[in-house]
Amino acid sequence: MTTNSQNPETIGLHGGTFRRDESQTSVAVPIHQTTSYQFNSAEHAGNLFGLKEFGNIYTRIMNPTTNVLEERVAALEGGVAGLCVSSGQAASAFTVQNLCNAGDNIVASTDLYGGTVNLFNNTLKQMGIEVRYADPVDPKNFEKVSDEKTRAYYAETLPNPSLRVFPISEVAEIGKSKGIPLIMDNTACPVICKPIEHGAAIVMHSLTKFIGGHGTSIGGIIVDSGKFDWSKNKKRHPNIWEPDPSYHGAVWGDAVPQLTGANIPYIIRARVVLLRDLGSAISPFNAFQIIQGLETVTLRMKQHCSNAEKVKDFLSKHDKVQKVIYSTLHKGEVGQRAKKYFNGGNGALIGFELKGGLEAGKKFIDNLKMLYHVANIGDARSLAIHPASTTHSQLSEKDQIAAGVTPGYVRLSIGIEHPDDIIADIDQALSA
Ligand code: PLP
Repeated sequence: MTTNSQNPETIGLHGGTFRRDESQTSVAVPIHQTTSYQFNSAEHAGNLFGLKEFGNIYTRIMNPTTNVLEERVAALEGGVAGLCVSSGQAASAFTVQNLCNAGDNIVASTDLYGGTVNLFNNTLKQMGIEVRYADPVDPKNFEKVSDEKTRAYYAETLPNPSLRVFPISEVAEIGKSKGIPLIMDNTACPVICKPIEHGAAIVMHSLTKFIGGHGTSIGGIIVDSGKFDWSKNKKRHPNIWEPDPSYHGAVWGDAVPQLTGANIPYIIRARVVLLRDLGSAISPFNAFQIIQGLETVTLRMKQHCSNAEKVKDFLSKHDKVQKVIYSTLHKGEVGQRAKKYFNGGNGALIGFELKGGLEAGKKFIDNLKMLYHVANIGDARSLAIHPASTTHSQLSEKDQIAAGVTPGYVRLSIGIEHPDDIIADIDQALSA
């Protein structure tokens, strides 16, 4: 069933073409724990390898369990096709590598997850791919650092620790006028934000977080909107418009619409070239686990977000708290972006600065009894971390401040427990 028009509660359970397992009629998505698939004939095998028809070849490139997850998340995001990979980190790398070769660049938001910054500043740099940064406080900053070698814009919907909502449509519009696609990491905002509706060309998630939701499995996904005009500036996208020697000179921008009837050369190339060659496949078991999370993610997001509002209100009145950082609390236009881009909640992530600085931050963490002290977000359980003494401790104090991490900053990922119990634990830890 094509389900992009249904509501997210329904898509989580029914999105995509899976209705039942056709061999055994099971309703729950089966785990197809297989490496390979028996071909019908020599001709069938030849057609699959030659991309004359699509079908299962080998689990490094596709798998029926994973396919259900790909179709459902694509439907949830309002996209046309998805590609799962082994982690959110692999998804971030693929989104860029799919368009960039040595000598190319992308322009990324200054507000990014630290793992993405490491990837961009080190590994991609070593591959000859340059990442330039633009402060999203003013969307025009993206235009200022773009040139003819800029292959993509890259940003997060709700990056931490700053928790400034990204100006999606403003930057997407700048990109469209130049033929530059906007890639959005929507990890922190499934259901509450749909970047494709605001003009993003590509959306990715770390499935490890809110979509999986139970802290059991690592995974990532890339979703193609099917809406980006790759032909606007063909010179800008050699990977889409130049012949691919690894497929007898296929030109993805021409071949994929002919073969599939859809404008998805980007996601097909990512699968049949990058996943084939780099091999960062998700395991079918992890795909199954993440599907269980996807089925209830809409319910959980409602509870995550309503709990977070209550925690934010509690912290805003607490005398040991100097400042609360939340999507809706920023001054001026940045603070209005949550209203523009979010629907059904303002996110589960909260930051707050303790008046007592570094020592108070560490003490708060040590006194928590229920909240977990982990370097993660998006679990059903409430989580806390003190970045200055952990995730950002290798940075100088100046760089920490530039990243939005003051000595007393604590990051919370609010879970789905009863809000009174979350607040009670934070309260006792603040008073201890
Ligand atoms: N993107 C964001 C916003 C993240 O928070 C993370 C992980 O924390 C990642 C990407 C990387 O995801 P993974 O841990 O699944 O590799």
